[in-house]
Amino acid sequence: MEPASVTRFREYLKIKTVHPTPDYEKCAEFLVNQAKEIGLGYQVVECVKGKPIVIMKLEGTDPSLPSILLNSHTDVVPVFRDKWDYDPFAATRVPFDDGKDFKIYARGAQDMKVQGALYMEAFREIKASGKKFPRTVYASFVPDEETVSIGGMDPFSKSQEFRDLNVGFGIDEGSVSADGNTYILPSERATVPVVFTAHGNTGHGSQFIEGTAIEKILPVINELLDLRASELAKLNALPGQRETNLGLVTGVNLTILEGGKQANVVPETFSATFDIRYSPLKDLHEFYEYLENLAAKNGCEIKFLYREEKNISKPVTDDNEFLKVIKSTCIDTGRKPVVTVMSACTDARWLRMKGIQSIGVGAIHDHPEYPHANNEYMIESKYIDGIPFYTMLIERLACVPDTN
Ligand SMILES: [Zn+2]
Repeated sequence: MEPASVTRFREYLKIKTVHPTPDYEKCAEFLVNQAKEIGLGYQVVECVKGKPIVIMKLEGTDPSLPSILLNSHTDVVPVFRDKWDYDPFAATRVPFDDGKDFKIYARGAQDMKVQGALYMEAFREIKASGKKFPRTVYASFVPDEETVSIGGMDPFSKSQEFRDLNVGFGIDEGSVSADGNTYILPSERATVPVVFTAHGNTGHGSQFIEGTAIEKILPVINELLDLRASELAKLNALPGQRETNLGLVTGVNLTILEGGKQANVVPETFSATFDIRYSPLKDLHEFYEYLENLAAKNGCEIKFLYREEKNISKPVTDDNEFLKVIKSTCIDTGRKPVVTVMSACTDARWLRMKGIQSIGVGAIHDHPEYPHANNEYMIESKYIDGIPFYTMLIERLACVPDTN
């Protein structure tokens, strides 16, 4: 017999919220129906037309208290269909371990419909128990996280509808943990996509042309590749798993190198695009200045494809009441909490830019990690084990006294 919670999860997975043409309308309809069935308040906000954000509400007993916001994104990344053993949008349930357990194959099974589905299951448990807590808890289901949040958390976090929620603290995306630890992520690296462009003298390839574009851009490339090497050395010297430590160092990759049209013509322009992931342990705005100076001293132009604002939320310290609750919930549900830095970016950054603390935490551990990969799946028993985790977490977060 398939548990009802699994059937609901699979229904959510079957909705094709896949880029570049996600079916957000059908998704919103499904989520609204879930809210109604569970007995929650709900609201649908469209900051960008055709990109609905569904907000569910578990009402608290003291509306004067700042609320808790559990966020998840509804969109998923594209698939290479021929590389999958099962239809990525059929949520096929495949038995293993002599039929004692199942793998559910679907795009989004890990990133991150599992977490959204678990929020709903936890709300369902709480509603059924009749328990009430002081703080109101919202769950937001947002589009476009995988496309820099253009129709999702970026505009939503700046909207009146968001201000009306009076959010005091957020929970956001946590990754599936491949080892026995549950990673708690109060901060993340900033994404710094940057293009350097050099212009120089051009001419015949047989000549020694002076002041060429390539001569100007090479020192920039070399300096950033040196930074890459030193950060990699730092990473390799850290104790523990490399994947887990990634957020503690700055990542540098030269991703696009452009210039030159023909072998015997010295190009007038050369450009280099870097994907840099800057560690939150250092000052982001100082780094922006460093990059600008690097361009200027080599006579290059610089363009940031996207420039993040400074996170203005207070750093989460060990005495933080919400962090304590997350840790105790991990321990009381048989998990091993480890606080670290998220290596990639999540929607939590939009809340942090608003000065609201937000922590990423996922319920799934000891599970092969396949986000954005072929044959993404979720083990059924791991999903079911996540329900008591979020149920307990929501109950405890909603009871944290207001200290401000
Ligand atoms: Zn995600």
